[in-house]
Amino acid sequence: MKRVVAGNWKMNHGPAAARDYLARFRPPTGEGTARVLLFPPTVSLAAAVAAADGVPGVEIGVQDVNEAASGAFTGETSPVMAREAGATLTLVGHSERRQLYGEDDARVAAKVEAAFAAGLTPVVCVGETLEERRQGRLREVLLRQLDAVLEVLDPGSSWLLAYEPVWAIGTGETATPEDASEAHGILRRRLDAAGLDTGAIPILYGGSVKPANARELMSAPDVDGVLVGGASLDPEDFAAIAEAGTV
Ligand code: PEP
Repeated sequence: MKRVVAGNWKMNHGPAAARDYLARFRPPTGEGTARVLLFPPTVSLAAAVAAADGVPGVEIGVQDVNEAASGAFTGETSPVMAREAGATLTLVGHSERRQLYGEDDARVAAKVEAAFAAGLTPVVCVGETLEERRQGRLREVLLRQLDAVLEVLDPGSSWLLAYEPVWAIGTGETATPEDASEAHGILRRRLDAAGLDTGAIPILYGGSVKPANARELMSAPDVDGVLVGGASLDPEDFAAIAEAGTV
């Protein structure tokens, strides 16, 4: 499987910075190079889509969508409008959405359905908190988050999964390749048990990925790529991570 390297800018890089970034971003090209996805903030979506036109192979998504196509939802992003504005993907269930904005599994599942209906490919994020990990609840938490989404999925649909342990996001604390493989294995086996084609569903690791650890993490069994926050903000660092994803 072609690896996937995704960058989540979170609430960073306005339209001018997005244009500047994409003018400087030189992802690797050629045989075996990773699929590169970028998730700018919604206000920079149009600028990023236009600027990405000149960068071969870069796909642009949004960081979140509302479950409704339109209506009285002040401040929210419609999946239909995001698609119209040029996004082809969306993150769903990022831990910051779950933790800071109270999104539960049912809401995440509704967003996944809405993304598919709008023609966006969802990147579904799951992951345990430090407390849950310490309580030995890794498997239970991951499967609860995954099962909510599996209930609303059409078996043949195209989507991606990201394992992002909450304790490793933005903390500088990275899961070991063994930790990542263990969690990815749990997820992969569940996809398999649900009768899905696991070879067609990339599982990305996210949590303090940097140029220095990206290659090792992506070489771990069952890790098909990475979802990068902080280190995706610099075009050279992110290009180095994308390069590390070449097979
Ligand atoms: C993220 O926000 O998805 C993430 C993994 O962040 P960081 O790489 O900064 O830990």
